[in-house]
Amino acid sequence: MTTSVVTGGAGFLGSHLCDRLLAESHRVICLDNLITGNPANIQHLVDNDRFRFIHHDVSNFVDIDEPVDNVLHFASPASPIDYLELPIQTLKVGSLGTHNTLGLAKAKGARYFLASTSEVYGDPLIHPQPESYWGNVNPVGPRGVYDEAKRFGEAMVMAYHRYHGLETRIVRIFNTYGPRMRPRDGRVVPAFIDQALAGQDLTVFGDGSQTRSFCYVDDLVEGIYRLLTSDINEPVNIGNPAEMTILQFANAILELIESPSEIAFRELPVDDPKTRQPDITRARELLGWEPKVPLEKGLSATIEYFRELRTVST
Ligand code: UDP
Repeated sequence: MTTSVVTGGAGFLGSHLCDRLLAESHRVICLDNLITGNPANIQHLVDNDRFRFIHHDVSNFVDIDEPVDNVLHFASPASPIDYLELPIQTLKVGSLGTHNTLGLAKAKGARYFLASTSEVYGDPLIHPQPESYWGNVNPVGPRGVYDEAKRFGEAMVMAYHRYHGLETRIVRIFNTYGPRMRPRDGRVVPAFIDQALAGQDLTVFGDGSQTRSFCYVDDLVEGIYRLLTSDINEPVNIGNPAEMTILQFANAILELIESPSEIAFRELPVDDPKTRQPDITRARELLGWEPKVPLEKGLSATIEYFRELRTVST
């Protein structure tokens, strides 16, 4: 049996990845310190005898008392307000956490998979962003703690690959959404859905002309699985190239949720990227992957999840 370690396995993406790996008959060892992860995301897995949860902060030394075939490092605060509140933990998990989990993979002779991010491109000057673009990142701005930790992580992964001959993969994840996001993690998808369901105004930052491209979680996980099982050591963008402005996105939410909410403009956060769209040529050509879930369908499933959360909590 293939054994896969997933760090951040109780988080939004990590828990969907645990589901997928279990469905592929892996044994899954989920590590999480639960600072932004949520036990509810893995509650349905605890009785599965191929699933093991270990409460651990991977910024500290990681020891696993059994053989391991894959180490997938997904642990990190991942929303701008999370990394504003947890700047040191964000830096540590992206740097020390990457080092520790690489050490684990090396000791076990395992394959290593890093969850990187479109944030390595910063506020991009090239559009759309191919993997060959080096980025435009402010190291000392508020987002620097996340962006630079992930950039350092990528450099560390390539060093282990080149120097130690470790089998490594790097995915650069573009804005992904779906069930199990935290309603108030500050990211735009949960923020707008939560606000619309509560009948509150949708807080559009700036004039809403900045763009993002939203990928449904099932599409992302399919891309991750294909990359894991490929032989590609270079970074690969996974995201949905369907780009829209944040104002268009707010209106799309208001069309899907019948709500008295209106749009309220708020100050634009520092260093908020003006545009973002993945160039997915590499994923198309090398993995035969492209996103399949249309925005409306993905959003409907996500809205359903948030509706249910509200009935449970009231
Ligand atoms: N945004 C917004 N209102 C919110 C939350 C976010 O207008 O309540 C904007 C934010 O300024 C950014 C975009 O939505 O331009 C995406 O933000 P998010 O935090 O989801 O992720 P990012 O892509 O910036 O990492």
